[in-house]
Amino acid sequence: AKEGGHNYFQFYVASVDQEIRERKQLEKDLSIALHSQQFHLVYQPQINLETHRIIGAEALIRWEHPEKGLVPPDDFIPVAEMNGSIVEIGQWVLDQACWQAARWASDGMPLRIAINLSAVQLRQNNIVDEILDTLKRHNIPAGRLELEVTETSFMTNLEDAVKKLKRLHKAGISIAVDDFGTGYSSLTYLKRMPVQHLKIDKQFIRDLLVNEEDTRIANTIIDLGKSLNLTVVAEGVETAEQEYYLAQRGCKLAQGYYFSKPLKPHDFEVFVAGFHSK
Ligand code: C2E
Ligand code: CA
Ligand code: CA
Ligand code: CA
Repeated sequence: AKEGGHNYFQFYVASVDQEIRERKQLEKDLSIALHSQQFHLVYQPQINLETHRIIGAEALIRWEHPEKGLVPPDDFIPVAEMNGSIVEIGQWVLDQACWQAARWASDGMPLRIAINLSAVQLRQNNIVDEILDTLKRHNIPAGRLELEVTETSFMTNLEDAVKKLKRLHKAGISIAVDDFGTGYSSLTYLKRMPVQHLKIDKQFIRDLLVNEEDTRIANTIIDLGKSLNLTVVAEGVETAEQEYYLAQRGCKLAQGYYFSKPLKPHDFEVFVAGFHSK
């Protein structure tokens, strides 16, 4: 047992050491990724379940690593949030998405673009001005932009978050609560925050028609949205049955692989044209 413990300890130290090295390498690679044009955005259509029209798109970042290939955002966004580089990356996302929105508008496709705003970004002092300046620079009406924030954003400094989101909302930008129900949900946030959309997290949609608890959670969020006059968006819709259920239950918007996975701009344009000609 003593021998085994010793070996285990050595193995443990080696693997922690390896993890630290990999993490440091990731941070180093991340620090050059932006300036080496390794990021791009993909767009996932958001569909109005009543009218069957595409009303907008969520922009999602992709990192094409020169050796590792595509690195999922869940692997590097948390790292970028920890070391602060999300501020610069997030600004790039905003700029790129606004540029794209302006291009699509001038091509006769005026869609609302939703971007994910990290809690770290929202904590920046100049974030509101930066967002408004970016809209102005690209000549985008504020109503064309939606910011998706998670409940974590409200936690560190509620007053500060309220103040900033109110300014953004006043300017015409819409605010969505992302991953609703997974974090520290509190009705106080919903009451105090100028939010217009609730996004049901895909973890509740996956087994929507299989797991009774998920059905009830989704129903509850939809009803909450109705009584607070918030538009509910379901993410992660993968089947016709899920779409049908959500539509008849009164969920207004949806996105997910059932309609389309996130697409590069050209593929997105082709998809929109095809969808609306159906
Ligand atoms: P999220 O904001 O909750 O985004 C939804 C995720 O679900 C995306 O993963 C999307 O590709 C995926 N998805 C969409 N439809 C389906 C479906 O039908 N089934 C399943 N299983 N998944 C679906 P992705 O693109 O890997 O992004 C993961 C997370 O990374 C996002 O979660 C968001 O929190 C973060 N993220 C992505 N892009 C950005 C960004 O530009 N800035 C920030 N701050 N975070 C980002
Ligand atoms: Ca999101
Ligand atoms: Ca989510
Ligand atoms: Ca998320």
